[in-house]
Amino acid sequence: MSSAEKVRVRFAPSPTGFMHIGNVRAAIFNWLLARHTGGEFLLRVEDTDRERFRQEYVDVIVGSLNWLGLNTDEEPVFQSKRANAHLTVAHKLLSEGKAYPCFCSEEELEKLKSESAHGFKYPGTCRSRSWTKADLEKPHAIRFKIPNECYFVEYTDLIRGKVTVSREQLDDFVIVRSCGMATYNFCNVVDDSFMNISHVIRGEDHISNTLKQILIYEALGLNAPEFAHLPLVFGAPGEKLSKRHGAVSVDEYRTQGFLPDALINYLARLGWSHGDQEVFSREELAQHFTLKDVGKSAGIFDIKKLEWLNGVHLRRTPAKDLLERIAEMDELLQLQMRDAWTGKQLELLVELYRERATTLQDIVKPIVALAKAPEKLDLKLIQKGNVPEMSQVVKEFLDRFVEQDGGVAANLLDLAKEICADQEVKLVVLAQALRLAITGGIQSPGIFELISLMKLESVQIRIERLLDIL
Ligand code: GLU
Repeated sequence: MSSAEKVRVRFAPSPTGFMHIGNVRAAIFNWLLARHTGGEFLLRVEDTDRERFRQEYVDVIVGSLNWLGLNTDEEPVFQSKRANAHLTVAHKLLSEGKAYPCFCSEEELEKLKSESAHGFKYPGTCRSRSWTKADLEKPHAIRFKIPNECYFVEYTDLIRGKVTVSREQLDDFVIVRSCGMATYNFCNVVDDSFMNISHVIRGEDHISNTLKQILIYEALGLNAPEFAHLPLVFGAPGEKLSKRHGAVSVDEYRTQGFLPDALINYLARLGWSHGDQEVFSREELAQHFTLKDVGKSAGIFDIKKLEWLNGVHLRRTPAKDLLERIAEMDELLQLQMRDAWTGKQLELLVELYRERATTLQDIVKPIVALAKAPEKLDLKLIQKGNVPEMSQVVKEFLDRFVEQDGGVAANLLDLAKEICADQEVKLVVLAQALRLAITGGIQSPGIFELISLMKLESVQIRIERLLDIL
């Protein structure tokens, strides 16, 4: 690619399964390169495998990209709609003698496969066979003819450096199957060239495909794009990422209450670095991202680190935006929350609960629960203190609270301090008793802040219930 050319990158998922955490990383790196360079980020849905295709998978891919905010710059290209274009190009190679029809039957090929001890390579049975147009009426596949003068294939990967494969390791691979559908490698080249893609960024499991694709570009007289192969993400050293290591589909992270910014930050940082910085906004990532800072070694997925980053992003995101994220996470929970609290109350509650939260669930669940009086009060949780003393300070607090008609948090704290000082009881005894009365537990954000946000009657009823059993 000449430096004057614009960066045009694409994410090219196959809709044969849900959006996996490993392949979304490719989307993120492509998007970051486009945003860093002022280039374009495109989506191509590689939906030629009609047997495994399900519309639902396409919807999930598009939904996940939208949720992540990885916005595309053009309408998506659906590869299945380009089937004729793929065949036209394959026939061009056929007519130029750069590809040939292969009439070997499935059975013959299966037999050869079963006889080859070290990986099957097509022996070239049909390579030098002469054929006429009429022969094309018979069932056949089309194979790429590796040029005689080709001794090795080589390219310089933007992440891995020089990659070479010798001719002996390659065979005349199929570009159009006998069913008439072009293969992945072939469609990929035809469409990347059609879409004017400047850089192909994808997982390193595609390197062997890239070497074949380079041969196709050469045969078609096209300039190949730049290639960058990302190291894979493992669940543990040498172990493929699986359910055991955390969720594997992007959508699960949404429903578990992760923020797109945290997921993007985590996955970008897994394999790419910018000094020692760990926490990045997406703008910062786009500002600093370069392929030369992507490492070569595999990343190990670390759910603990993702959780930590999610907490950091929860505390950096405006409460208003978090409320929108909650709606995307679980519409029902958000409706329950909105039924119980006003918009302003919710913002304040979100600010209180996010301080110790790891996910949005840790915020929304207690906020919904707080709207109702606790089902039961377990006195064992607070019985370490002296009960008569406790009862006394709680009663005093309630009386004064009602008398002064509630109050703001700082003012309630002062009141609590004053009562405890007078009665020589530690403030924590009163605070824990109030926590139990209000929330049913003994862990919550500042209890006086919570009380100040609630209706006076609701606070009163809950505290009286505690006094009844103290
Ligand atoms: N459809 C391929 C995949 O999902 C595309 C790889 C690529 O060329 O980016 O692995």
